[in-house]
Amino acid sequence: MSQLKVSELFYSIQGEGKYMGVPSVFLRVFGCNFTCGGFGMPKGQISEERNKVAQHIDYYKDYKSLPLVNTGCDSYASWDPNFKHLSPVLNTDSIADSISLLLPHSDWVDEHLVITGGEPLLGWQRSYPDLLEHPKMRNLKEITFETNGTQKLTSTFKKYLEHWGIESRGYQSVTFSVSAKLSSSGEKREEAIIPEIVCDYETVGYTYLKFVISTEEDMDEVLEVTTLYRNAGFKGPVYVMPVGGVESLYHLNNQKVANLAMKHGLRYSDRLQIPLFKNAWGT
Ligand code: SF4
Repeated sequence: MSQLKVSELFYSIQGEGKYMGVPSVFLRVFGCNFTCGGFGMPKGQISEERNKVAQHIDYYKDYKSLPLVNTGCDSYASWDPNFKHLSPVLNTDSIADSISLLLPHSDWVDEHLVITGGEPLLGWQRSYPDLLEHPKMRNLKEITFETNGTQKLTSTFKKYLEHWGIESRGYQSVTFSVSAKLSSSGEKREEAIIPEIVCDYETVGYTYLKFVISTEEDMDEVLEVTTLYRNAGFKGPVYVMPVGGVESLYHLNNQKVANLAMKHGLRYSDRLQIPLFKNAWGT
């Protein structure tokens, strides 16, 4: 039986991208290859907000008590080693049991599974088949991997997804929601934008790009980077989504980003979890 280090497991409404509005189980696994400390900061500066939270780590007994941050990665506790004790290692049997308790009918009906992080396509690829083959997952029809688009699929997992998705369901029931990181994240272009990896996802699942933006300059970079993906053969849609892990920031940006999306003929993705649930942990 395989194991996963689980940061959060919860049931909510998917607030972003293609499945916006669909009731979904979110499995957030621990670990990321990035830190994205530049979000919401003046260009070139890196947020210290999560480090300040880490200084008082003894005060926070569980995930739900952690503060939301205005700057840097809003799911910092799913990869920062300072918070790793809040993410237990669970076996796939116990994860499947917990999922069936979360589902309103104790089984999958029209709900979809979101595997997120952190970065869910790091080493955990080896554990997902055991989870997805569990009897309690038999009626699951659709999965999304929310990834930063830098991790290659292993040949074993790719073969597994071909069977799980296209062959056994008869349609592309695996989705890759690729949140590729622009320079505003603080990550380096050559490490964040790897078009051939994303093109490979397209061979086993419906794949789209989703860029978090707030300014015209960000949009210029989206257009420039999209050309790199298109030149590599990427065919999927491109979404832009407003920066804003907290409501005040989201409201500053969402209309502007929607107008930029219309101006350039790209798709707009909301972040429904913010107006609906204030982006609290577990939503
Ligand atoms: S890739 Fe995603 S989870 Fe990882 S640090 Fe960046 S925003 Fe956070």
